Amino acid sequence: MNCEICGAFEENLLKTDVEGAILNLCRDCSKYGRVVETTAVSSGSNLNERDEPQLKSNYAEIISDELRKNNLSIAELADNLKCSPKDLKKVALGEIQPSDILVKKLEKFFKISLYEVDYVSDSNFIRHTNSLSFGDVVDIKRKK
Ligand SMILES: [Zn+2]
Repeated sequence: MNCEICGAFEENLLKTDVEGAILNLCRDCSKYGRVVETTAVSSGSNLNERDEPQLKSNYAEIISDELRKNNLSIAELADNLKCSPKDLKKVALGEIQPSDILVKKLEKFFKISLYEVDYVSDSNFIRHTNSLSFGDVVDIKRKK
C-alpha cells in the first residue's frame, strides 16, 4: 500500500487520525497525526475515574473569609448550621475536612461553592493540542 501523504510504498501502513480524518500513512507521515490503534480505538473516557467531587484546597480560607465578611463568629455560625462549634473551628482552621453535610450547609448558608468543578472531557482537548491541521498536511503533500 502507498502512504496517503507522501505516496511511499510500505507493507504496513499506520492508520492515523489526522484532524479527524483516518489516513493510511507510512511511519514518517504518521507523526502528522495520532496513530489509531489497529483494533481498539483508545477513546475511553476518564469520567468514572473520579466521581467524587473534590473539595477546594483552600476551603478553610473561603470559610474564614465568609465569617469575616458576614461578621460571624464560629459559635454563631455553628448555631446557624446546627453543628458542633468545635468541628467548625477545626474546619475553618483547615485542620479537618468538613463532612459532605457540613459542606452543603456552608454552601447554602454563604451561597458559595466549596467543591472544585473541573470536569474536562478530554477527548476534544487532545485534538486541539495537535497543532497541525488537515490543511497543513495537504500542503506538505503538495511540496513533496
Ligand atoms: Zn508517508
